Amino acid sequence: MLLLKKKETDAFDIDELQEKLRDEEEKRRFFLIAIRALLVFVRDFSLDLKEIDSDGFRKGIDDLTEKFISGEKAKTIRSFFEKHKKTIVSFINRQKIYLHDREKELKDIIALLTKAMTTLDAENRDYNEKIYKQTDKIEQITLLDDIKKIKNALSNEIERMRVTVKEKQAHEKKRIETLSNKVSSLNVELEKAKEESLKDGLTGIYNRKTFDSHIRNLVERNTVKHLPFSMLMLDIDDFKEINDTYGHSIGDRVIMAVVHKCRESTRSHDFFARYGGDEFVIVLPGISFRNALKKAKQLSKSIAESRYSLSELRDGNKLSFTVSIGMATYRKGDSAETTAGRADRALYAAKHSGKNRVISEKDL
Ligand code: GH3
Ligand code: MG
Repeated sequence: MLLLKKKETDAFDIDELQEKLRDEEEKRRFFLIAIRALLVFVRDFSLDLKEIDSDGFRKGIDDLTEKFISGEKAKTIRSFFEKHKKTIVSFINRQKIYLHDREKELKDIIALLTKAMTTLDAENRDYNEKIYKQTDKIEQITLLDDIKKIKNALSNEIERMRVTVKEKQAHEKKRIETLSNKVSSLNVELEKAKEESLKDGLTGIYNRKTFDSHIRNLVERNTVKHLPFSMLMLDIDDFKEINDTYGHSIGDRVIMAVVHKCRESTRSHDFFARYGGDEFVIVLPGISFRNALKKAKQLSKSIAESRYSLSELRDGNKLSFTVSIGMATYRKGDSAETTAGRADRALYAAKHSGKNRVISEKDL
């Protein structure tokens, strides 16, 4: 009876022991799975970089995982782990230092970029402030510890920065457009002013300044190739009296009438300018002395024979006037001044011999 009882007790203990053992074995297997998962996690979350010998580190982790899989004794695994602990800790430190350095570099790059962006346009304070604020935010972001948060926050800030830069570009584009429009209208004005500076305000024909440069060019060209030309100096007779009798505005119309007559008798390649006051100059290139004289006489006659109806003149009276013309022809070795001087002396002679006539240098 007693023996039977003992046997029963032993049987119960063995069952319990077996149950315990199974439980222990289960726990051990679970423990191994957990450790392996952790090792995989550590391996996969390590940075993959040559600089910090990631390959060496991963190989160490792989070897350790191998030991767990191969079912080595706990003592062997522990000693192996102790041996590798140092390597793992040193790798984590290297990784930490590396990340720290990268963060510093990143901050330096951000600072450089900001500086570059702000120096792009020192006048644009609004935009500079916006960019500065965003850079501050980026610096704050680098302090975040979650890589996903950093990524999201960074992409938000970069998007905002992109918008700011786009705004700035649009602003710049508008500014450039306004400036180029201004430049174009200034160019048009400059061209107009240049053109106007060559012309006489009242008549719209060339002025004395343009005559001077035209005649200088003509004389210069004559030193290379002989291109003879004749010059007519024309002056309205007693113009002061016309002004005094009929008024200044009638005087202006007389000047315009002379311009009209001169234009009628000149060809497209002739040059015609107001020399000053009531005096005009006509340059006739490639024409003989005889023909030039003929032309001058026709012009003088045509002006003298013209009659102008003016509402200001009472009793249907018509206005008429005359001109005196002095003529000279370019001679080899002449300067612009010598030709003009001879034409001027001929004009003086025309005035002093009774006006309303043409005198050439040959008559002097
Ligand atoms: P002469 O026959 O000797 O040439 O005598 P003149 O009266 O024509 O010559 P003078 O040089 O004494 O007078 C020229 C006048 O022309 C003097 C000036 O007031 C006038 N005058 C100059 N420019 C203009 C102008 O643009 N319009 C008008 N209406 N008169 C002008
Ligand atoms: Mg005159």
